[in-house]
Amino acid sequence: MHTERLRRRSAGNFSQIMVLVEGCEIAKDAVTILVTRCLNRSGGGKRINETPIKRHNGGNKMSTQKYRTWSRIFLMLMMTVHVVTWYTFGIHGVGSIGIEAFFSGLSRGVINAGVIFWVLVFISAIIFGRAFCGWFCWFGGYLELIEWGIGDKWKIKIPRRILLYLGVLPFVGLALKAYSALLAVWIEKGFPAVFTFRLADVEPWGGQQTGISILLTAILYGPVLLFFFGRRAWCRYLCPIGALLKVFSTVKISGVRLVNNECIGCGKCNRACDMQVDVMGDLNTHGEVSDSACIVCLKCTDTCPTDSIALSFSHLNASLPADSATRAEHSTLKRRKRSAFDIAITVIWVGISLSFFFSGMRAVAPQEVKVIMSVGLLLMVYGLVWAIWRARNKL
Ligand code: SF4
Ligand code: SF4
Repeated sequence: MHTERLRRRSAGNFSQIMVLVEGCEIAKDAVTILVTRCLNRSGGGKRINETPIKRHNGGNKMSTQKYRTWSRIFLMLMMTVHVVTWYTFGIHGVGSIGIEAFFSGLSRGVINAGVIFWVLVFISAIIFGRAFCGWFCWFGGYLELIEWGIGDKWKIKIPRRILLYLGVLPFVGLALKAYSALLAVWIEKGFPAVFTFRLADVEPWGGQQTGISILLTAILYGPVLLFFFGRRAWCRYLCPIGALLKVFSTVKISGVRLVNNECIGCGKCNRACDMQVDVMGDLNTHGEVSDSACIVCLKCTDTCPTDSIALSFSHLNASLPADSATRAEHSTLKRRKRSAFDIAITVIWVGISLSFFFSGMRAVAPQEVKVIMSVGLLLMVYGLVWAIWRARNKL
């Protein structure tokens, strides 16, 4: 008890000292290290994991996130210029770069702007993994903006093991929507004998979107999903483009890798990751982040206090120290538990998706209804899963 009281009092004094040295980085670092060591030595309580260690690079790494923000602002500006030049000034030089334009071009034998853009994105995925999702996707940027606005306060936590298996859904959706449509055209009309080159083949704001459907999509896939399922839920479980990039990123030649043996097992990398990648577990097993959910945002490398991880093209002979490896194993165990229940959830997902598709409801519904139907389906399945989960726990 005496030790615990000492620890509490020390923690209070620590806050006061930090106020006094506010503005002097060196003094702050020195005080933090000293006080943390004292608290750890006082015994009794848990050891404090997050020992502050001065960055090897002088603490400038957060600028990476600024570059990410600017890259998306730049893309948004380009999109605005594109739409304005097309619709306001009538300059029809380059058409849509949407994924629909890609599939449409492929099915009709036209190399349009969409085909060129997405081929470049797929090549980038082979080099950098899903960097497109982390650095350029406008919807990903929008989701981060929403999260920044709403924060963590209002979220409902859903067990991670349930969420793990939702990763199959985008593949099912993409296969049903895009691949099947593409294959149907190829089967019906044959594979295009020749491909023509037409950059402005599809208009930028093509498709059946209306203002209301876009607004609904933004609200339902942004704040609503964030509220229920956490950060970047759309990118983690549902985005069909992300699913496609996962396939290409499995053979990526660069990655977030261990670059020294100084990891202290603090777990900051795990906590920083919006995509809920088990960074420590992957580093322990593979020496790099191998999870295809990684969008190369580099938040983990930014937060690592020992600069043990970095985006790299080479595999260095680095590994986790024994203590950190033990912590990594604990974190992995927590994340990878599987059960028959999880498989049942996957079956429910696939079953409902298939019945939804084959019932023909989607084909005849207006765009606004389709948007609500998609999210309604999503929430319905999650509600069902949650109910089963609660019932199972009560048995
Ligand atoms: S593992 Fe690192 S780089 Fe990959 S998504 Fe998570 S934080 Fe970003
Ligand atoms: S790699 Fe992760 S666990 Fe290791 S020191 Fe860096 S942030 Fe901490």
